[in-house]
Amino acid sequence: MKDISDLDRKERLPLVSNKQVGHKSVVRINDTVVIGGDKVVIMAGPCAVESREQVLDIAHHVKTSGASVLRGGAYKPLTFPYRTSSVFELGEEGLKYLHDAGKAVGLPTITEIMDPRLVQTVARYADILQIGARNMQNFPLLEEVAKAGKPVLLKRHFGCSLRDWLGAAEWLLYHGNPNIILCERGVVAPHTHEVTSRFIVDIQVIPAVREYSHLPIVVDPSHSTFKRQYVAPVARAAIAAGADGILIDVHPVPEKAAVDPLQALSYGDFGKLMSQLKEIAKTVDRSI
Ligand code: PEP
Ligand code: MN
Repeated sequence: MKDISDLDRKERLPLVSNKQVGHKSVVRINDTVVIGGDKVVIMAGPCAVESREQVLDIAHHVKTSGASVLRGGAYKPLTFPYRTSSVFELGEEGLKYLHDAGKAVGLPTITEIMDPRLVQTVARYADILQIGARNMQNFPLLEEVAKAGKPVLLKRHFGCSLRDWLGAAEWLLYHGNPNIILCERGVVAPHTHEVTSRFIVDIQVIPAVREYSHLPIVVDPSHSTFKRQYVAPVARAAIAAGADGILIDVHPVPEKAAVDPLQALSYGDFGKLMSQLKEIAKTVDRSI
């Protein structure tokens, strides 16, 4: 695998590269939330928006526990094409519910966009546009999303190097969007795809991003570990390693979640984790 060279930084990654050690950019969401500043930002909510009531209830709970962005998927990159009454996505209706729940509790929202034809629709409702891991190098999608003018969270594909990932971020910056947040969500290795390690969280990539780039980096401990028991330890490790935030699945009845029921945290577990993260943040000179 190619490493990031000085020539890359100068000629292929000029916008994404930091100008000197310690150069960091911040991403402002609606002038209320700053990502990449002194505060660690917690983005929490359901994997999939399931109903108006569900996302509103979750919004209240995560806000009370200290989250500052509400997450929720209305378009899901599901591995298999089949939908049932218990496995579903709501599309534009879900976007509305997410938006209304965010407004009701005073939280900006983040949601995934998979289809370049839907960029305008999604951008009407959400405050941050999420590019999923599987679409990290979908360059026409990156271009359209960049041009929508909203902050973008770019997940790392599970098979891509830091060089590839920064290359995808460079595409977004190149197309005129300066508000880019990186999100680590686990990588594959020969020994992954067991239930104990479907993906492996690359904690080391947090300081590596700091070394090469000025962009903020958050970690998704839910989609990377895929297993509830591993979510809190990895979230704690991410904040301890200097991540600017986490993106995490929370559900009132996790095992009944329409999508990813193995990984969501209950309200109780999320509240407990938030108390721990607040303490950990202090030890790395941050706050929540
Ligand atoms: C998600 O955050 O809902 C999601 C599908 O994530 P990923 O792209 O990391 O699988
Ligand atoms: Mn999910």
